[in-house]
Amino acid sequence: MKYIGAHVSSSGGVENAPKNALSIGANAFALFTKNQRQWVSAPLSEKSISLFKQRCADGNLDARYILPHDSYLINLGSPDEEGLQKSRTAFFDEMQRCEQLGLTMLNFHPGSHLNKISLEECLDRIADSINMALDRTAGVTAVIENTAGQGSNVGNRFEHIRYIIDKVNDKSRVGVCIDTCHTYSAGYDIVGAYDEVFDEFERVIGFKYLRGVHLNDSKKALASRVDRHDSLGDGTLGTEFFKRFMNDSRFDDMPIILETPDEERWRDEIELLRSYIL
Ligand SMILES: [Zn+2]
Ligand SMILES: [Zn+2]
Repeated sequence: MKYIGAHVSSSGGVENAPKNALSIGANAFALFTKNQRQWVSAPLSEKSISLFKQRCADGNLDARYILPHDSYLINLGSPDEEGLQKSRTAFFDEMQRCEQLGLTMLNFHPGSHLNKISLEECLDRIADSINMALDRTAGVTAVIENTAGQGSNVGNRFEHIRYIIDKVNDKSRVGVCIDTCHTYSAGYDIVGAYDEVFDEFERVIGFKYLRGVHLNDSKKALASRVDRHDSLGDGTLGTEFFKRFMNDSRFDDMPIILETPDEERWRDEIELLRSYIL
């Protein structure tokens, strides 16, 4: 079965996220558990935590289909010691928030070398960062998102993600999230060569590590390495890709999350995706 939702707002408290998800007809969702543009946020209150759990239970929103996203400030592969320490501390805090909310995954962008260290050094730092977080927490899987490769961001090649996974000690708590906009912008032609790309994903990383999908159209061309999401059907991916995706059982039973720019359209986008299932 397909579980579809969007990255909904948790403004006013995390307990509002499940409400916002249900209001667009979602059976999956993504959220930030803290302000994504600040290093430090107040701890989650007991009241927020219990309301969040209650609303998820009432709405049949299971943790398997909830994919929290970490702060944009965090760079687990940072070349600079201070930035790295800050990022590791913040990432650990995010993992703990997930634990408190009864969530089992934390989705993050791997990191950036900022042209100060090599790609390999950056990937090594990311793997070390993940190991440190996993050592100090329980029950939450670190879910690495592939990137468009904009600027000095790593993670645009499947091989980068494989390299990180190989260095993670606890393979049962590391996973991958495919962002369709990022995949296409990174140069993987999921429109013209759908089978080849996902065969390559299977060969290099493996579907057994796939924990979720960010389903976005792209404003930019194949291999542009520019990360600009578009509403479904409006961008360079086109509707045929989404029809095929919705009938591909390799993407069953995991959160499929819209990060499309017009939230007024989320309800319709979810309905449209469901209508593609044959
Ligand atoms: Zn994404
Ligand atoms: Zn993106």
